[in-house]
Amino acid sequence: MTLTDAAHRLAAHRHAWQPSTALSAADPEVADLLSAEAERRAGSLQLLAGENLATEAVLAALAGPLVDKYAEGYPGHRHHTGCAVADATELLAISRARALFAADHANVQPRSGTSAMLAAFAALLRPGDTVLAMSLEHGGHLSCGSRANFSGRWFDVIGYGVREQDGLIDLDQVRELARTHRPKAIIAGSISYPRHPDWAAFREIADEVDAYLVATAAQITGLVAAGAAPSPVPYADVVVAATHKMLRGPRGGLLLCTGELAERVDRAVFPFTQGGAAMNEVAAKAVAFAQAATPEFGAYARRAVDGARALAAALERAGARPLTGGTDTHLVTADVGPLGLTGAQAERMCAAAGLLLGKCAVPFDPAPAAETSGIRLGTGACAALGLGPEQLAEVGELIGGLLSGGAPATAAARVRALAQRPGNGGGGPGR
Ligand SMILES: *Cc1c(COP(=O)(O)O)cnc(C)c1O
Repeated sequence: MTLTDAAHRLAAHRHAWQPSTALSAADPEVADLLSAEAERRAGSLQLLAGENLATEAVLAALAGPLVDKYAEGYPGHRHHTGCAVADATELLAISRARALFAADHANVQPRSGTSAMLAAFAALLRPGDTVLAMSLEHGGHLSCGSRANFSGRWFDVIGYGVREQDGLIDLDQVRELARTHRPKAIIAGSISYPRHPDWAAFREIADEVDAYLVATAAQITGLVAAGAAPSPVPYADVVVAATHKMLRGPRGGLLLCTGELAERVDRAVFPFTQGGAAMNEVAAKAVAFAQAATPEFGAYARRAVDGARALAAALERAGARPLTGGTDTHLVTADVGPLGLTGAQAERMCAAAGLLLGKCAVPFDPAPAAETSGIRLGTGACAALGLGPEQLAEVGELIGGLLSGGAPATAAARVRALAQRPGNGGGGPGR
């Protein structure tokens, strides 16, 4: 099978990974561990919602010479000398991010989604301020008010949720809570909600109570880039994004904001929450932004969404209950209670056959947090291997078979075959 150049450009690392001779010679122990990780991947299908396969081009940039460069500050205003290339690289990443997301301003330095959230809070709020965010029980990230996180420790976070009857965000409740508590910021976005948030409605509510609107769009960053999900950029004051989930870039965060907030956001990242950025990650982000602007990436994103729809339908046929009845994104969250299982049990049963998904609390979950009643799946990595709706429907059937007591060995053979199946372009085989 011949690959187009474009498919090569989006190619992901797969089981062909080998440690370099330098690594094997210097540290056989770590080289062996990484080989074992490559082998683990080759025998399984990655369905954890936040994981994906970075492209080879991204990995190459990560391993490049900027890994050593200290460049505290911003292009043109560094605290270190020798930053001409670092400056050019960061300016390129910023201009690509701005073009890709049609944003007035981009900060490409945050090391993770959570540190980007911390910077967004720091840019807009003071400790003790009231914030309205999706409750963790209904799909909020820990940076949306967990007591164990800065958000819940230093801020007064009020939680909104979804409606029990249809699983959709209860905008009436959001409006009512906003009127009652007058939050300084409203946060929209979730780790598990499979539908598109109504960004315009959130903006309207925020305007009514004179609050900032922060969109936490880490899960869907790649879908927004590809035009496969509505963009929060025209509506939110600050968008918190991640480059390692559906964007298939390096592990890292990204902030997009209005020109008016640019300086505050930049200062909140450096020097408030970080020192020197990882310039190799900035270079890899620039690569990911360029790749995400290609038609091949658009096809990849659509394949992930179509695959998730097929997966949700197959899980429903198997007796699970997909939340909201399906999905508009790469995410599927399903209640496995109707199958007489907890989420933790389902996770273990699927893992035994190499299907790696995560247990997940469902809204109004009667099960303890360590068990949960649901599972959460994402199709990003499968789509990166070239798997589409047909294969993801089969994955859903395999999961259904395992959850009704089917033998892991039979399913495992199919999983391995799907994981190693030659790709169909636009993110196909790594070698
Ligand atoms: C993934 C995610 C985060 C956190 O990203 P990290 O890089 O793991 O810190 C925050 N919010 C949402 C909605 C996410 O999906």
